[in-house]
Amino acid sequence: MMKCDKCGKDAVTFIRYAGIALCKEHFLQFIDRKIKREFREQVRFKKDDRVVIAVSGGKDSMLVLHEMHRIFGNWKNFEMVAVTVDEGVANEREHAIKIASEYSKKLGIEYRVIHFSDFIGVRLEDVVSKDHEIKPCTYCGVWRRKVLNEFARSINANYLVLGTNLDDVAQSIIMNVSRGDTARLLRLAPHKKIRKSFIPRIIPLRRVLEKEVKLYVTLAEIPHYSKRCPYAIHDIRNKYREFLNDLEKTDPSVKFAVVNFYDEIKPLLEKEYSHMEMNACKICGEPTPGTVCKSCQLLERYRTLALKNTESRYS
Ligand code: SF4
Ligand SMILES: [Zn+2]
Ligand SMILES: [Zn+2]
Repeated sequence: MMKCDKCGKDAVTFIRYAGIALCKEHFLQFIDRKIKREFREQVRFKKDDRVVIAVSGGKDSMLVLHEMHRIFGNWKNFEMVAVTVDEGVANEREHAIKIASEYSKKLGIEYRVIHFSDFIGVRLEDVVSKDHEIKPCTYCGVWRRKVLNEFARSINANYLVLGTNLDDVAQSIIMNVSRGDTARLLRLAPHKKIRKSFIPRIIPLRRVLEKEVKLYVTLAEIPHYSKRCPYAIHDIRNKYREFLNDLEKTDPSVKFAVVNFYDEIKPLLEKEYSHMEMNACKICGEPTPGTVCKSCQLLERYRTLALKNTESRYS
């Protein structure tokens, strides 16, 4: 049996990129420290801030909820509001909402559910039944960002905290590089600059691998919902996930390397692209680099398609 390099007890994992074996206690401590360090690097919360935590009920966001409570739970006037976005996919969110609401209640964190239908005016399911070209995750991702930003702004929140893990970040970087989308590459969270109408997003799991999140929630018995969304198989990210996971087999630190490289070039790119200002979308007023935001463009597309009655290949 492998032994913990810190205390000699039975190890639960071997961290390949660090070359150390850890027992349950030291693994949890290792991740807790990483997350605390990440908070310190990304943000200086003030004691009277109001922070929205986006909680889907999945392992990543449930770990973030747990950590927010662990680190900031005893700050007196610091307000945390956990929120689940219901995208509008039949029978999908109910169970996750139950798990997220019960855990929030247990931690003493206010909990809310917000719906695509209230903010956008349509359910994701309606869109999927009409659009044969654009993948559901594209609509979902763009609208979720918009809905969360709008909600956070409506309650005067200072920050939005998300469960984005290291795998997600590395995938987003590679994805934007392979599309040559420098503007979007530069807009990836975390956000240090405060921009008008835009609530900065903080991602404390930025240096925690997805498999580490999995192991943490299992060992710490953090409740979470693990069923995948029915549209996840169409997600373009799957290709990037496979690509990076494949590379990781021979290079255990490749995901860290991608993120570190991004951190190094970001300030240089920012200088080069400093002229790129955000405007207010001329339809909805949300911040956008162009004149009409992506969310409104997609809504317009859906409305046009809805006029033609077509069947979905996803249903
Ligand atoms: S898998 Fe795609 S459609 Fe489903 S919740 Fe995630 S982003 Fe939305
Ligand atoms: Zn140990
Ligand atoms: Zn808009």
